[in-house]
Amino acid sequence: MAAQIIDGKAFAATVREKVAGHVARLKEENGITPGLAVVLVGEDPASQVYVRSKGKQTVEAGMNSYEHKMDADTSEEDLLAVVNQLNNDPNVHGILVQLPLPAHLNEDLIINSIDPAKDVDGFHISNVGLLGTGQKSMVPCTPLGCLMMLRDHHGSLSGMDAVVIGRSNIVGKPMAQLLLGDSCTVTIAHSRTKDLPDVVRRADIVVAAVGRPEMVPGDWIKEGATVIDVGINRIERDGKNKLVGDVDYASCAERAGAITPVPGGVGPMTIACLLANTVTACCRANGLAEPEGLTA
Ligand code: NAD
Repeated sequence: MAAQIIDGKAFAATVREKVAGHVARLKEENGITPGLAVVLVGEDPASQVYVRSKGKQTVEAGMNSYEHKMDADTSEEDLLAVVNQLNNDPNVHGILVQLPLPAHLNEDLIINSIDPAKDVDGFHISNVGLLGTGQKSMVPCTPLGCLMMLRDHHGSLSGMDAVVIGRSNIVGKPMAQLLLGDSCTVTIAHSRTKDLPDVVRRADIVVAAVGRPEMVPGDWIKEGATVIDVGINRIERDGKNKLVGDVDYASCAERAGAITPVPGGVGPMTIACLLANTVTACCRANGLAEPEGLTA
């Protein structure tokens, strides 16, 4: 059986359309334009690409984009001052500090200085706690995108066996919380998991967020399972640079019922969900109804 391809690129376009529609209504009916501020410290080339892309898509959705570029040797005090200024700016509804930060800056301290209501990355400890206790929170963008695609494909996820490979704070852990929230039976696997193939073979849903190219072969996949590949790995093959996921796409697609490709799967959903979170934060800040289908 050939797997159905879950087209994240197309799905992200529908999310961005919904966001843009909601932004237009907020402007017309309430005179409010949602605003997203992105803070970039240093000159990491990959971060610069992400920040540019975030700014462009924010503007395309009709929102205001504010970029704060700071030198690599910026002090913690100066960065905290910028975050504080954004926390107090009523035109800014979402704040994102691009990670990783230069080594001399304490990431936890900086992230936890963001107003949790504006924390559109969902990394603030308050949002982590709210998500973990099933309360309304800001949800990390990549796992939110995965959840949206799974709900779209399956409808209800209730009672399904889900295995998340990877336990990072950014992807693995919040992904597991979201699946638990949708009543899956969730296993979090990681680098010390015993007999990973056996654990993965039990899963109706496999979310791979490891950062190891093509680590999951097809024979670990239960016939008909849904495979969500979060991994983005740059490799060289046949003398060419190539982007591959954490699962071996060809062999997994032979056994899976549905699978996300890399590129064009989870990747495009991440920024779409950042835009969705910004609109959600803006609605909450103004006591307005949240857009449907854009939150967990
Ligand atoms: P991370 O390095 O923080 O965490 C990786 C996790 O994988 C760890 O919890 C570790 O225990 C686990 N792991 C490592 N080796 C393993 C093994 N052999 N078996 C089982 N588990 C193992 O990574 P991360 O930030 O969670 O990112 C994971 C991947 O997802 C990376 O490829 C990253 O580029 C990608 N990513 C993609 C997006 C997106 O927008 N699509 C967003 C974030 C991360």
